[in-house]
Amino acid sequence: MISEDIHLTNTHTPIQSIDEPFFKSLSIRLSIKREDLNDKEIQGNKWLKLKTNLELAKQQGYKNLLTFGGCYSNHIYATAAAGRRFGFNTIGIIRGPEPEQLSPTLNFALQAGMQLHFINRLDYRNIHNAEIQQRIIKQFLPAYIIPEGGSNQLAVGSCADYAKTLPADYDVISCACGTGGTLAGLIKGSDNSKSILGIPVLKGAEFLFEDISNFLNTEVSADEPNNWTLNTNYHFGGYAKSSAELEDFIVEFYHNHSIKLEPVYTGKMMYALYDLIKKGYFKKNSRILAIHSGGIQGLDGFPELKKRLE
Ligand SMILES: *Cc1c(COP(=O)(O)O)cnc(C)c1O
Repeated sequence: MISEDIHLTNTHTPIQSIDEPFFKSLSIRLSIKREDLNDKEIQGNKWLKLKTNLELAKQQGYKNLLTFGGCYSNHIYATAAAGRRFGFNTIGIIRGPEPEQLSPTLNFALQAGMQLHFINRLDYRNIHNAEIQQRIIKQFLPAYIIPEGGSNQLAVGSCADYAKTLPADYDVISCACGTGGTLAGLIKGSDNSKSILGIPVLKGAEFLFEDISNFLNTEVSADEPNNWTLNTNYHFGGYAKSSAELEDFIVEFYHNHSIKLEPVYTGKMMYALYDLIKKGYFKKNSRILAIHSGGIQGLDGFPELKKRLE
């Protein structure tokens, strides 16, 4: 349960139908659930994953939230905003050396009161190592620790609760994947008649099959039928990598549907869905629900594209 003081401005976000002539000829229906509209700052799935953690942190009397991320992380952005709004101090352990010029995301986080602590990439990768924990994190304790991307069991549970609020009349639910925590929640909270399709945005994201199974507490097994899969062909070269083709797609999508996507997550997911529909991947008469997981602040890292969406 979320206490009354940790809540959002807009929990009733719309589902919009996306019409394209070629969908009709293939008898496919595509809709988008607009979680980019749930909040300006603590947006999309980052809110879904944070809310139960914030609630527990408050219950347990923590004043500090400590979390991890890169320079453009939507999770860092959302945590900083949540700290300011709900009265926590926030500490961001940031991957890589302190840049000469802060990214727009980190600038926002700093203004929202987050204390930024830069660590080298090797320490970041090995952050679970006890010696590194001792050296880096100890100085900030006591703090409620939220993993990178906000994905832990509580977050998965809250995404599962979210999935139960979605209307039943869809065959496929799709979402962009970073850590896979959100997708795990969508799988957990949906009945078996639905297929859940994740689009990883990282290159070489095959490890997510196992990570998601771990979030679900199930074994990965080739012969056990399951109702979810990942399509790892739409990373566009890797995390936060973009291309002219992807950006043209995002601009055209905006012109046709007045919905902003960004190239890190939601642009890749929507591009993938269009491409898979074209290729006949989905059964005839499929009704697909794409989750717009937010992250619009990420456009600040792509100023030219952002201009084309004005
Ligand atoms: C973080 C993020 C994701 C990925 O969520 P995971 O739970 O880490 O897979 C997807 N979309 C947006 C906009 C995000 O910010």
